[in-house]
Amino acid sequence: MRERSAMILGAGVSGLTCGVRLMEEGFDVCIAAHLLSPNTTSDIAPAYWYPYKVAPQNRVLVWAAYSYSKYLELSLIPESGISMSPLLKIFDHEVEEPFWKAAVKSFRRAAPDEMPQGYVDGFVTDVPRIETPVYMRYLLDRFTELGGDLKKLDREIVSLEEISGDAPLLINCAGLGAGKLCRDESTFPIRGQILLVNKVGLNRIVSVESGRLAPIYIVPRNEDCVLGGTAEENDWNLNIDPDTSDEILAKCIELEPSLADAEVCGHKAGLRPGRTEVRMEIETVPGVGTVIHNYGHGGGGFTLSWGCAGEVLSLAEDFFSRNEN
Ligand SMILES: Cc1cc2nc3c(=O)[nH]c(=O)nc-3n(C[C@H](O)[C@H](O)[C@H](O)COP(=O)(O)OP(=O)(O)OC[C@H]3O[C@@H](n4cnc5c(N)ncnc54)[C@H](O)[C@@H]3O)c2cc1C
Repeated sequence: MRERSAMILGAGVSGLTCGVRLMEEGFDVCIAAHLLSPNTTSDIAPAYWYPYKVAPQNRVLVWAAYSYSKYLELSLIPESGISMSPLLKIFDHEVEEPFWKAAVKSFRRAAPDEMPQGYVDGFVTDVPRIETPVYMRYLLDRFTELGGDLKKLDREIVSLEEISGDAPLLINCAGLGAGKLCRDESTFPIRGQILLVNKVGLNRIVSVESGRLAPIYIVPRNEDCVLGGTAEENDWNLNIDPDTSDEILAKCIELEPSLADAEVCGHKAGLRPGRTEVRMEIETVPGVGTVIHNYGHGGGGFTLSWGCAGEVLSLAEDFFSRNEN
């Protein structure tokens, strides 16, 4: 291995984006993970740029703004699976301007005729829409084209010691799995159940944030349309609940009546890696060595990925320059 080498644990969006970013800067990187795309939590996300259930706000804004601009660039590359889409967010009460307004290119309040009965406030903005089946493949290909090494682990490791020693620096992008590995009690699952319907003629993402329809979202994609969803904290259940699916579908049809003709083609459930705050820090762990932690991105792993990868890169560069001197 070259001098600036790192081992990344995790091949979800966080690990892959860090892998690409570090390889682009001349690092030698191996990503090791039990689950690879298309089987990670990241592959389940619909997904679109929006800082949902992530903290702390000041750091989230920086990471999300950086990621937004990176996705804008990627939207010019058709095979990336990134495109810009209008997003309508609606509320049953008046809301202040969101903290993330500074990160987006356009922003306006929703007009009354854009909202269903009982809803009084909302906003319309343009956000990156991430076709996860395409984008995860794109990231993986980009990583390997750059010369990155990918190692599938045949089981989940139970301690970081198991993969320490292979490189001078370990980057922990294990998502929800990091909770057990680091005995970190600030982590928790946020369960999300969604259903997929066939491609419908809708052209914007709609999301209801409060009131009788919440939490509901409709994310039209190139090949299908995702209807969501739930956000159940501390629920580890990955089974599909048919009643929940029926409820999501009924609410989405109320919001967008044309969905009544849509054909349901799949159901999924995933666990967002919740944490009181995203863990982004460098630490010396006895028996393991130097570890950069990058996990706990809740409902915003895609939204923060490039910003967080940039910060991981700075921490890694500092680490190697300190060790050279
Ligand atoms: C229904 C749903 C909708 C969502 N919508 C959005 C959205 O619109 N926008 C958005 O930005 N985000 C969204 N998210 C959240 C987003 O998916 C997550 O924040 C993101 O996927 C986290 O990525 P990650 O790489 O940190 O973790 P993961 O994707 O979970 O990857 C973790 C990796 O670490 C590996 N790993 C973990 N523990 C171990 C271990 N012990 N041994 C070996 N390997 C291990 C796993 O195998 C895997 O490779 C959504 C999530 C869900 C479930």
